[in-house]
Amino acid sequence: MLSAELFLQGWAAIVGLCLGSFMNVCIARMPEDRSVASPPSHCPACGHKIRWYENIPVLSWIFLRAKCSSCGTSISPLYPLIEILMGLLAVLLWREFVPLFSLSNLAAWVFYTLFVFMLVASTYIDLRHYIIPDQFTIYAVPFGVLGVGGLQLLGYEGPHAMTIGHAFVGALAGGGILLLTIGAWWLIRRVEAMGFGDVKLLAMMGAFLGALPAVPFILVGACLVGSVIGMLLMIKRGSGLKTQVPFGPFLAIAGIAYVFFGEVLIRDYLPIWWLGAA
Ligand SMILES: [Zn+2]
Repeated sequence: MLSAELFLQGWAAIVGLCLGSFMNVCIARMPEDRSVASPPSHCPACGHKIRWYENIPVLSWIFLRAKCSSCGTSISPLYPLIEILMGLLAVLLWREFVPLFSLSNLAAWVFYTLFVFMLVASTYIDLRHYIIPDQFTIYAVPFGVLGVGGLQLLGYEGPHAMTIGHAFVGALAGGGILLLTIGAWWLIRRVEAMGFGDVKLLAMMGAFLGALPAVPFILVGACLVGSVIGMLLMIKRGSGLKTQVPFGPFLAIAGIAYVFFGEVLIRDYLPIWWLGAA
């Protein structure tokens, strides 16, 4: 039994590595509105078409010694790091969602792995370009709501199991609470507290995780992570309060933390919240 379990986790790791490889394409192309499907991957410096054996996650980067085989331009270590990160997350998600192999658990793993994929990609793109692609936020809301409905039909009962109605309310609550915050902040200070990308991102997360206790958990978590990193940045750069830090990555990090630890943390430490949850 143990070896079968290891085999399945190894398979999950390979899927994760390949997702990481695809994420690298998304990260490079989506901010410029280029298709992620065509043309095939090529070296950004010389246009050399990347052959299949030069496109194997992590291994190719090592065999190519971090250089394009045609022009020798160096390939950033961020490429294999993203692949390793996604491989690791896919295995951790497998351990959380597939304690027993069943169709509904497998479907939940696929669903929440794609969710985490979108959060990691959004974080990277937001940090580099100060935008979050709509494909990973507002366009993913119906996918999240219908996916929760599909899991419900399959009789899924594992972590984050809920009804399609909860997913719908979650999306409204996630987007709504940030819209209200922006509106209130605008009335008081006449500045935009955050971008609408963050509103769409939290709406998407609400669709995948429900309203309670996920949305308040993510908001509080994002503010905590944000204040720590914000203070560190201020100390390092010696700049004032106006240092621009995008909020989206903190929401995404808190969302990933919620997928893994949220339910347990709240059940053990804040049971009063749990009573209101589904
Ligand atoms: Zn090249």
